[in-house]
Amino acid sequence: MAPTDPPAPLEGKKRRIAVLTSGGDSPGMNGSVRAVVRMAIHNGCDAFCVYEGYDGLVQGGDMIKHVGWEDVRGFLSEGGTLIGSARCMAFMERPGRLKAAKNMIVKGIDALVVCGGDGSLTGADKFRAEWPGLLSELVDKKELTAEQIKPFEHLNIVGLVGSIDNDLSMTDATIGCYSSLARICEAVDSVDTTATSHQRAFVIEVMGRHCGWLALMAGVSTGADFIFIPESPPGADWQDEMCKIVKKHRSMGKRKTIVIIAEGAHDQQLNKITPSQVKDLLTKKAGLDTRVTTLGHVQRGGTPAAYDRMLATLQGVEAVKAVLDATPETPSPVICMIENKIVRRPLLEAVAQTKKVAEAIEAKDFDKAMDLRDAEFHEYWRAFQITTAAEQPDLMLPENKRMRIGIIHVGAPAGGMNAATRAAVAYCFARGHQPVALHNGFPGLIRHHSDKPLGAVRDMTWLEAEAWASKGGSEIGTNRGLPSEDLETVANVFGTYNIQALFVVGGFEAFTAVSELRKGREHYKAFKIPMVVLPATISNNVPGTEYSIGSDTCLNALITYCDACRQSASASRRRVFVIETQGGESGYIATVAGLSIGAMAVYTPEDGISLKMLDRDIDHLRDVFLQDKGQNRAGKILLVNEKASKTYSVSIIADMIAEAGKGKFESRHGVPGHFQQGTTPSPMDRVRAVRFAVKSVQHIETFAGMSKKDIDEDDMSCVVIGIKGAKVLFSPMEKVEKKETDWKLRRPKDEFWIDLKNIVDMLSGRPKLSEKK
Ligand code: ATP
Repeated sequence: MAPTDPPAPLEGKKRRIAVLTSGGDSPGMNGSVRAVVRMAIHNGCDAFCVYEGYDGLVQGGDMIKHVGWEDVRGFLSEGGTLIGSARCMAFMERPGRLKAAKNMIVKGIDALVVCGGDGSLTGADKFRAEWPGLLSELVDKKELTAEQIKPFEHLNIVGLVGSIDNDLSMTDATIGCYSSLARICEAVDSVDTTATSHQRAFVIEVMGRHCGWLALMAGVSTGADFIFIPESPPGADWQDEMCKIVKKHRSMGKRKTIVIIAEGAHDQQLNKITPSQVKDLLTKKAGLDTRVTTLGHVQRGGTPAAYDRMLATLQGVEAVKAVLDATPETPSPVICMIENKIVRRPLLEAVAQTKKVAEAIEAKDFDKAMDLRDAEFHEYWRAFQITTAAEQPDLMLPENKRMRIGIIHVGAPAGGMNAATRAAVAYCFARGHQPVALHNGFPGLIRHHSDKPLGAVRDMTWLEAEAWASKGGSEIGTNRGLPSEDLETVANVFGTYNIQALFVVGGFEAFTAVSELRKGREHYKAFKIPMVVLPATISNNVPGTEYSIGSDTCLNALITYCDACRQSASASRRRVFVIETQGGESGYIATVAGLSIGAMAVYTPEDGISLKMLDRDIDHLRDVFLQDKGQNRAGKILLVNEKASKTYSVSIIADMIAEAGKGKFESRHGVPGHFQQGTTPSPMDRVRAVRFAVKSVQHIETFAGMSKKDIDEDDMSCVVIGIKGAKVLFSPMEKVEKKETDWKLRRPKDEFWIDLKNIVDMLSGRPKLSEKK
């Protein structure tokens, strides 16, 4: 065989799949490499890593390595990219791509997964478009023979969007953007406290040359006073506009000012707006002691957030599926996320649409630039503007459309409850409604009435909720108690305080409470008002939604805990941690945390725990440690939901493992308990809280001025807001209660995440029960 003879193609549909990371690194890229490699191997394919991005492809040789299952161990929790990334000039030119094509064929690679930003994906698409021409040229130049290239006529390319900017069209999130947002929010939260102490103003510059996603989301999650994004530059009089808003906030009692500016910010004439310009204005015109903070590369780095690990994993798995599904006619896909759904979109179109945003900005067509961003971006932008509470007379509703809206928290605290309340309050003031805090849940109301001046019902001011964007817990107090404790008193309180609508933030109890009020309409007309439940619980078990605020904060707390456990084992090696998660009767948290940390096994209440399962997992551990050649420097993790079994507690499971390990491996158990509620809510929980809260009050508004009878007859007057698949929508409570709720087990009947368990198992190499020897 000549040295360049490619290996024979693999049998059947099996492929040789290479993965590379390219362009600027982003947290989560490693997770996608791990998922591609393991999913490929799981499907009988050969997996290759290309080192240093397209540079590795152009150089070939050892830069393209055949990799095994163990080579990507530990990748999931590492930031950056462990296989390297580069900006490769050679690949921009055809001769470079010709070398890359030859190097791939020499290794027998017939599919390429590229994880990078729009530049990297543009390169990938060009490569595929040129592929037939490159092959003919290789034959013409006698570098390969016609026979050698024959099995490689069709190159499959799949794109994964790894970028902190979240700048690719057609996907809601890119791998890395939420980790970067977390870095930014940590920094803004830190600056925030000192700004408050000294009554200072801070101008914070964040990344984003053509895309304002990071600046916008940072503004929404931290409750900034003003933001600058390239897609929607401020008007000609922006200097006055900004100072007016800032002064207004100060006059209302705010002690600090935060302005966030994307690095690509400009005015409508495309004149750059710089942080120092903004600083000068705030100092001179608004009379504020102002400082500038430029976050720079801090934003790129660090440990990936839970969401990015999950996104990277699911997208990596989907990329390999796309390779296996591909026919010569299939256009190259890019794997995208729409709300809660992984989808494939044509790579070419996604890249073309992304470029159009930059073109629209260049042409000063800002409406078009905003239109080209997804609907979610628009909604956040509107939500930010409305909730910054400057004078917006055009937003004020006429007197007869204004309402007194009760806001109540029910159940255990969850990250984002306060952010939701803050946004609802700010929105109410912008529209002329009066938000009314109902303190300490329904028991608070019930006690209040029987024992008067407890102050459980209070008209809120804009200022008191203003600083709640980043606060954990529940500022208005929350309680598990239900209105059925004393429905009559609750109705009386609603009547006395003229509560005309109800916004309920909480978990399964909140859902139950609103169900009780809905049924109580038959006897109490005080309940014939519009009511919305915003699901907020770490367990993510509220029917009518696939996502509850607080669940992302919980996942981040859990992965921090698990990463620490695993790291603690790096000295002793061969240690198994059995960790108990919360989640009630829902295995969501355990499963998604398992996906995000690469757990060896996850035990859920849905499956329960049997002796056979434990036996299988202990055997598996034994096999893994037996074959260990030093790769298992960190511990293994088993996650057990608190209700998975009445018999097998985490301590019992840990003891069983230790016993079986017989000195070859040991085990520990851990119960993070309330640690899982987290401290500061995650940016995702905060931004979604804002979006859902604004939408909820908008929904409530549609009932303003309607008669109680009409409200009662409209099933949309009592709803739960949530994400279902690729949509954010309101579902009528009555339907969800009757058709979608497992009341006994306090969870939805259909749990959308159930199939994720198979992915956790597949990626950890856990044998199926039926395969047990
Ligand atoms: P980031 O979001 O961090 O900017 P990116 O993927 O957009 O990531 P780029 O520097 O634009 O980063 O591209 C990375 C690499 O992709 C380039 O160095 C080059 O090798 C390749 N590439 C980019 N654009 C093209 C193109 N038009 N043709 C061929 N290759 C390209």
